[in-house]
Amino acid sequence: MSDRFAIVGAGQMGNGIAHVCATSGFPVTLIDVAAEALAKGRATIERNLDRQVKKGSLDAAAKDAALGRITTSTALDGVEGATVVVEAATERKDLKFQIFRDLDRLAGQEAILATNTSSISITEIAAVTTRPGQVIGMHFMNPVPVMALVEVIRGLATTDATNTRTVALARALGKTPVEANDFPGFIANRILMPMINEACYAVMEGVGTPEAVDQVMKLGMNHPMGPLTLADLIGLDTCVAILEVLHAGLGDPKYRPCPLLRKYVAAGWYGRKSGRGFYQYDA
Ligand code: NAD
Repeated sequence: MSDRFAIVGAGQMGNGIAHVCATSGFPVTLIDVAAEALAKGRATIERNLDRQVKKGSLDAAAKDAALGRITTSTALDGVEGATVVVEAATERKDLKFQIFRDLDRLAGQEAILATNTSSISITEIAAVTTRPGQVIGMHFMNPVPVMALVEVIRGLATTDATNTRTVALARALGKTPVEANDFPGFIANRILMPMINEACYAVMEGVGTPEAVDQVMKLGMNHPMGPLTLADLIGLDTCVAILEVLHAGLGDPKYRPCPLLRKYVAAGWYGRKSGRGFYQYDA
């Protein structure tokens, strides 16, 4: 049986995951509660496909075929018929728990229920369903069409069969899966977020400007992008949410979100997606 994807959440990650499913030949339904998010998601996919055509990495016919594989829905029952659901909604525990209760009811019995969460426990998400063995973390990186990694995270109850299938699916999407265990932040954000948070403290304490902090990490450590540019790309709201999970889950004060980061989020400065974060962006 060939696979069919449903992606829940059409934000920057959801539309990227749908993009990759479609260019890899899989039919995909992109679902969001907000019709504007779906319209914006589809427009972003089209723009990114155009960029690939211009670069010569995709031909025009493949672009049209990919677009033809994507359908959208504002209702969660759009998951019907999907063999794999990847949830990529806002990083909030209560929201993800509710979505997984609903997915458990609406998705086919055999379907894998994957989450793209950056930090929330896969074991806890799985426990709200009646099929914890079929729940797994499938953590894509941003921007999804460009980044090679998918972190595959097993919850306590995830079966070997689900794990094996998910690893194979990540490969079928042209990605390199790396397996991790279920602890707050898994591997990627356990290491990345303390660095981003420390960069925020360095700015707050006047050690350096955002530009200086980013330049030091780029030129001195050979990072392709400075930590504050990366934080703006991830979304400062998402960074705070991940740090809160690390702080609560590991109990170490070193993970407390920097007050400057919280202040930006309170002001609605979410980074690139809202037009302003540590830097300003054109619409
Ligand atoms: P985003 O804010 O760009 O998009 C979230 C989307 O979820 C919005 O369009 C919102 O309307 C939608 N949504 C909210 N409630 C919903 C519901 N009940 N049903 C369907 N859709 C709903 O966020 P994002 O950056 O795309 O992050 C999504 C997930 O991916 C989060 O769990 C985040 O931690 C994770 N993630 C983010 C990054 C990153 O760099 N931003 C990287 C890896 C993983």
